[in-house]
Amino acid sequence: MITFLSGGTGTPKLLQGARNILDDTEISVIVNTGEDIWYQGGHISPDVDTVMYLFAGILNTDSWWGIKDDTFTTDKILKKAFPDYYMSIGDQDRAIQILRAELLGKGMSLTSITQELSRFFSVKGNILPMSDSPWTTYVKTPKGELHFQEYWVKYRGNCGISAIFHKPEEFPLATPKVISAIRSSKAVIIGPSNPVTSIFPILSCAGVKEELEKKKVIAISPFIGDNPVSGPAAELMKIMGYSADSQGVSDIYGDIVNFFIQDTRDTIKIDGSILCDTLMKSPEIAEDLMRKILSTI
Ligand code: GDP
Repeated sequence: MITFLSGGTGTPKLLQGARNILDDTEISVIVNTGEDIWYQGGHISPDVDTVMYLFAGILNTDSWWGIKDDTFTTDKILKKAFPDYYMSIGDQDRAIQILRAELLGKGMSLTSITQELSRFFSVKGNILPMSDSPWTTYVKTPKGELHFQEYWVKYRGNCGISAIFHKPEEFPLATPKVISAIRSSKAVIIGPSNPVTSIFPILSCAGVKEELEKKKVIAISPFIGDNPVSGPAAELMKIMGYSADSQGVSDIYGDIVNFFIQDTRDTIKIDGSILCDTLMKSPEIAEDLMRKILSTI
């Protein structure tokens, strides 16, 4: 078993490559839930859904969210009635969010719901939300305190951030399934996801770091040079006091990482790191990268 720590874009790209090499039953994915949000009566767990749709073979891999060829009939009506609605949600995707909201309301855990949905989609990969209690990323901006989705989707990251914080303040507990996935893994791969909004929340779950210290951990940088391949990682890392490059990523992860992989185009070379082509423009490049990662195990 190999376990990945994942957000909703960079690591899913790597998972595409991993699935060409490993059987799905040999893959566990611990997924960030720090961007989850109740929205329009549904419960969105964006990273869990992206990973689940990937394994189900229905992910829209142009946008890396939502279901491919989904329709937006309900979305159009809602946006006409309520122009303030800022997220676009496909009809099939919305059905999953309504179902999740319904089951959460009945007291089912996010882990159990994800298992049920995985069964529904015949997913064989072991998809595990990092925690069953909410721990949500917020930012302080001149517009006030914003949920990360509002900052990134509504304001497109253009509102200036002075701080990042989480609600509730106390760290979440990793689920027993997360801990046992790490324990039974040959190695853990921290995929090239946003270190602040995707990986930091997973590493903050009580119990995770202690387990990782006992394992072989390989991390892949989401930066090439001074820029992340996509998304707001650079600004967020600077706010957290880290440099916006692979060095900053390596500093955030610290000594839980045994092998650090950075892109061949990076100008700063981190001591002991492995250089690879990490720009996954196709599933074939992701597969090549995955083979190199597996050769370190
Ligand atoms: P989110 O939940 O949608 O923010 O997705 P993730 O956290 O999983 O991924 C976002 C990060 O993926 C960004 O910081 C990107 O730099 C990184 N990323 C996306 N595509 C690639 C790629 O092809 N190669 C590398 N190295 N990083 C990537």
